[in-house]
Amino acid sequence: MNADAQLLAALAGVVGAPNVLSAAGDLAPYVNDWRGRYSGRACAVVRPGSAAEVAEVVRRCAAAGVPLVPQGGNTGLCGGATPADDGRAVLISLSRLQRIRAVDPDNNTLVAEAGCTLAAVHEAAERVGRLFPLSLAAEGSCQIGGNLSTNAGGVHVLRYGNMRELTLGLEVVLPDGRLWDGLRGLRKDNTGYDLKQLFIGAEGTLGIITAAVLKLFPLPRAQAVAWVATADPATAVSLLGFLRDRLGERLSAFELIGRAALDLVLEHIPGARPPLAEVPEWSVLIELGDPDAGVRLDELLEQALADALEAGLIADAVVAASLAQRAALWALRENASEAQKIEGVSIKHDIAVPVGRIPVFLERAGEALRQVWPGVRIVAFGHLGDGNLHYNLSHGREAENTAFIARGGEVNRIVHDLVDALGGSISAEHGIGQLKRGELQRYKSAVELDMMRALKQALDPQGLMNPGKVL
Ligand code: FAD
Repeated sequence: MNADAQLLAALAGVVGAPNVLSAAGDLAPYVNDWRGRYSGRACAVVRPGSAAEVAEVVRRCAAAGVPLVPQGGNTGLCGGATPADDGRAVLISLSRLQRIRAVDPDNNTLVAEAGCTLAAVHEAAERVGRLFPLSLAAEGSCQIGGNLSTNAGGVHVLRYGNMRELTLGLEVVLPDGRLWDGLRGLRKDNTGYDLKQLFIGAEGTLGIITAAVLKLFPLPRAQAVAWVATADPATAVSLLGFLRDRLGERLSAFELIGRAALDLVLEHIPGARPPLAEVPEWSVLIELGDPDAGVRLDELLEQALADALEAGLIADAVVAASLAQRAALWALRENASEAQKIEGVSIKHDIAVPVGRIPVFLERAGEALRQVWPGVRIVAFGHLGDGNLHYNLSHGREAENTAFIARGGEVNRIVHDLVDALGGSISAEHGIGQLKRGELQRYKSAVELDMMRALKQALDPQGLMNPGKVL
């Protein structure tokens, strides 16, 4: 038996033979990414069923010097969960770790294993009348371990924060196979370094998350949703300030959608209908929430929007009159990524700048890109309330677009140099993965990169945890 076969036999002894996959057909769903942009090879996919089994798999791989690629729902957009092409790595899927270990309504916490889908965590929280607020379009398939490892954001960061802010404790298997039990549900704990934050957003390069203590919130029993047409992004930023003043914490989402993004959704998503009589150049989707079911949020929102209309901040608006209409408005926003996937390849950016600089970013980036590529299609949408936009570019029909995509480096330089000059980030919520490794080297300071390398070296001296990602 060669070394690989020996290792796989040992791993089968740990997780059970049916949970070690090595036939090409079985590996396919794991070694190709959601966007269809990355594909790799793995010597096997291993599916442990408990944290103890994860630890044992990691220990065995570490002893054999075999790299590991952790994977959750495989919905990441930066190639972080796709193994390299050399076929050396074992891909470790967390999807069998699906238990909600505990729910504590007094402490407003829930302990979920890494392989729980985000939707399953929502359901577990709702069963005790609570909300777990992380919300994103991939929530039926993405998993808590992946959400933590990418520090996922989504549509409710404005009100509740991203994964870093929603997590109180973690359980992690370290690269040498030791299990760290940091599952403390404390809101106050000043006992030295906040170690959990090292693993959140680390994209599996420092260890494997097996469970987490997550924060819960009161369930918003009253909700209201509106679709608003606004003249331009600067007016949308003013509208955000206006609504925050009026509605405070009740404002739970504020999403900007450029016309090109809405057009793609209307073209490609079955059942999608224009929200207003005319398709606006710039739209904002607004959501309010309140725990008190008796609060008439739709009336509050209507009044606030009527005042915003008078103040010249909006041109038109519709407030959803039913649950179905609310869902239909949200679907227009949430299908933006899916519609783009159907349309074809584009160069994607996930940028953040201070909120007030979003209009400057859009204006300057558009000008600079159009100078080099007249007719470039700019599909911009995202979480304006967080200063985070998805800024995706394509040019012309197939052959012309292929040539444009090949010049991705030049395109990135224009977009990311501008983001950097505006004090922003080249990755707001999707992470670095394989996609932005070069960009990270370019835009992080030497001091930051040194600290990151030192941490990696300290925790994973053999460099076996998700090699080729982030650093
Ligand atoms: P995967 O793709 O499986 O993995 C992502 C990274 O985490 C990889 O580096 C992997 O190695 C690592 N990893 C996974 N599990 C573990 C673990 N247990 N321990 C250690 N490392 C691990 N993201 C947002 O932030 N906001 C959005 O609004 C958003 N919208 C999306 C919409 C669509 C339609 C799609 C397809 C994706 C969207 N995403 C969004 C991106 C994606 O859903 C998130 O990045 C999500 O958090 C990834 O979770 P996953 O379980 O699929 O992780």
